[in-house]
Amino acid sequence: MMRCLTGRRRVPKVRARLVLRVAKIKNRSGEKVFFVGKEKYNCLKCPGYCCSYPNIHAKPKDIRRLAEHFKVSEEEAEKRYTEKGFKEKGMKKAPRVLRHQKDEHFGSICWFFDTDKRRCTIYEARPEICREYPGRKRCGYYEFLKFERDAQEDPDYIAITNNY
Ligand code: SF4
Ligand code: SF4
Repeated sequence: MMRCLTGRRRVPKVRARLVLRVAKIKNRSGEKVFFVGKEKYNCLKCPGYCCSYPNIHAKPKDIRRLAEHFKVSEEEAEKRYTEKGFKEKGMKKAPRVLRHQKDEHFGSICWFFDTDKRRCTIYEARPEICREYPGRKRCGYYEFLKFERDAQEDPDYIAITNNY
């Protein structure tokens, strides 16, 4: 067993590696995005690092979508699935953000993330910010993951980095 080059401990293999995000085929309007098929990352092979970000915004239209998905009122959806986040640069007030749960790999991860299957459980109803991320052809975490998997000679290795 090779030692992790970052000095971080090895973690158990993921139990299942299903879809976190299907390749970005359509944007929120249902139109094909311009870089379809050209991404240099593959969410299907990723353990969901971006879902562990602590301040995943849920705007009013995202909360509305969640309410429709779960067939509850918008007030109920906001209360159940979001919490007060922290203010980022340029913000006048703290945003509502998706709630989190414990995660064995990243410490904490989105409430809607299936931590066994490593995938989003509300893919069709996920917030806009999840649809847009990473918004470019490359994903920094995925490049780190690929590097570590090559170094460990283990295609299932989960490279750990911390958002907190
Ligand atoms: S961290 Fe990158 S590769 Fe992994 S799910 Fe998010 S966007 Fe996809
Ligand atoms: S809603 Fe889905 S895609 Fe967005 S952070 Fe949560 S688990 Fe990830």
